[in-house]
Amino acid sequence: KEQHLRKPEWLKIKLNTNENYTGLKKMMREKQLHTVCEEAKCPNIHECWAVRKTATFMILGDVCTRACRFCAVKTGLPNELDWQEPERVADSVVLMGLKHVVVTAVARDDLKDGGAAVFAETVRAIRRKSPLTSIEVLPSDMGGVLDNLKTLMDAKPDIMNHNIETVRSLSDRVRARAKYDRSLEFLKRAKELNDTIPTKSSIMIGLGETKEEIIETMDDLRANDVDILTLGQYLQPSTKHLKVQKYYHPDEFAELKEIALSKGFSHCEAGPLVRSSYHADEQVNSAQQN
Ligand code: SF4
Ligand code: SF4
Repeated sequence: KEQHLRKPEWLKIKLNTNENYTGLKKMMREKQLHTVCEEAKCPNIHECWAVRKTATFMILGDVCTRACRFCAVKTGLPNELDWQEPERVADSVVLMGLKHVVVTAVARDDLKDGGAAVFAETVRAIRRKSPLTSIEVLPSDMGGVLDNLKTLMDAKPDIMNHNIETVRSLSDRVRARAKYDRSLEFLKRAKELNDTIPTKSSIMIGLGETKEEIIETMDDLRANDVDILTLGQYLQPSTKHLKVQKYYHPDEFAELKEIALSKGFSHCEAGPLVRSSYHADEQVNSAQQN
């Protein structure tokens, strides 16, 4: 039987429609840039863009070679690589006066290097043009190829973030091509390549996992030296995507956060609206103090 859960009160947030960022959005279109903030209609956009001065760019195009069952990004055959994109992202970081920037990318399984060279160049371009901005990268597993990871780590981002997304038992159903163990391996290798760069990962909950499984995933991440964890509520982007199985109460998030900190994560953001990039600016500092 098909049944939809009703959205709980704490998720019925009012978007601030006065803040529409026409200027910035126009700039993004002119520069042919994509932000997750806009495309995912993220409810945190005002807090992030205006108050915290942070944003999440999605590079390597806006068409992904994978089709994860929770993700709203278009699937198909991507466009050709755009080698000017790194400079345009860096220029926008300067124009927006960003203190922290997250750079993520669609999976480019059509490319041998998974897009690592353009990704790394984007990190370098931002560093050159805006040296005080902290840079977090959020790649796919880039085919699980160590050389691709090394290319990106060599650009020395401030945080290496790679999302495990869900617990082991749901991985194959939720993620396309990506594998639970391969993601753990990816995070471990990143640490081995440069142990001064904090690693980070994120779990979406509400897909049918148990509490024990969430805790097991925390243990798996800690066993692979992951420093920072984010936990957020899965929300169904369209009726074609996986259904929400459970809405976690803010108190449950608070409890999970306590558990995460007791496991040794240096920082954990947990809450219904927490996204992988939420409050990421604080994590740079907390990781550096550790
Ligand atoms: Fe953008 Fe992330 Fe902030 Fe949402 S939480 S507005 S995606 S930076
Ligand atoms: Fe979305 Fe990333 Fe999966 Fe592509 S690889 S469908 S962008 S989550």
